[in-house]
Amino acid sequence: MSRRRKIYEGKAKILYEGPEPGTIIQYFKDDATAFNAEKHAVLDGKGVLNNRLSEFFMTRLAGIGVPTHFLKRINMREQLVKKVDIIPLEVVVRNVAAGSISKRLGIPEGESLPRSLVEFYYKKDELGDPMVSEEHIAAFNWASPQEMDDMVSTALRVNDFLAGLFSAVGIRLVDMKLEFGRLYEGDTVRTVLADEISPDSCRLWDLETNEKLDKDRFRRDMGGVTEAYAEVATRLGIIKQTSDLATVVDINGERSGAK
Ligand code: UDP
Repeated sequence: MSRRRKIYEGKAKILYEGPEPGTIIQYFKDDATAFNAEKHAVLDGKGVLNNRLSEFFMTRLAGIGVPTHFLKRINMREQLVKKVDIIPLEVVVRNVAAGSISKRLGIPEGESLPRSLVEFYYKKDELGDPMVSEEHIAAFNWASPQEMDDMVSTALRVNDFLAGLFSAVGIRLVDMKLEFGRLYEGDTVRTVLADEISPDSCRLWDLETNEKLDKDRFRRDMGGVTEAYAEVATRLGIIKQTSDLATVVDINGERSGAK
C-alpha cells in the first residue's frame, strides 16, 4: 500500500492511484489552509472527521439518486472513489449571506437570501479562484451546456437535501461549495458530484445561537475548529459524542506510526 503512486497533493487531501483501474484513493490530511494558502495550520483529527462526514453526506445523497464519485471508506483517513476528470469550476450554493457575497454586495452576514443562489468560480489558484459567469464558462468551454444544467440542478437538489438534514439537528446550512467531475463509462460521460462535502467546504451555524461550526473558526482565528467539526458529526449521529474525538483520532493507526 505504501508503494502506491501519488497522483496529486492538494491543500487538504492527497490522491493516490486506487487498487483497480478507474479508482482513486482520497487521503484526508489534517492540514487547514485559507486565503489561498496564505494561512496554514495542522488541526489534529480534522482529516479523520472530514473523511467520516464526507462519507456520510455522499452516501445519503447517493440514497436519493444523486450520482457521486464515492465508492467506500477504506479506513480512518482514506476513501475509495471513482476516477473522474474534475470540471474546473467551484459551484457555490448560498441560502444566507456570508463571506464573499457579503463583502462584494454589502449584504449583512446572516441575512437570508430571497432564494438559493448558485455561483461559479474558476478553479485557478494563481488567480485566487475568480467568480465567473455562464458566459465565461461557455466561451472558454470549461463546461458544456449539458454539464451546466446537470451541475445547477444537482447543486440545488444537494442543497435542499442537506439543508433539511442539517436543520433536523439544529444546524443552518448557510452556504457550501461543490465540485463535479466527468465520469467516463464506455463511450458515455456523466456529470457526478466529486471532491468532498465537509465543514471545510460548507458554512454551518447553530440554528439557535448562530455559533459557527465550520472552517470560518479557522479563517477567523476563533479556535475550537476540530471540536466544532466533531460537534457536527455528533449531532448527525456519526460519532457518539464530542469527547469521542480522542477515540476517533487514536484508533487511526497512522498517528501512532502503524502505517
Ligand atoms: N469555499 C470552499 N473553497 C473555496 C472557497 C469557498 O470550500 O476555495 C466554500 C466556503 O467554505 C463557503 C462557500 O464556499 O462555505 C462560499 O465561500 P465564499 O465565496 O463566501 O468565500 P470565502 O468567504 O470563504 O472566501
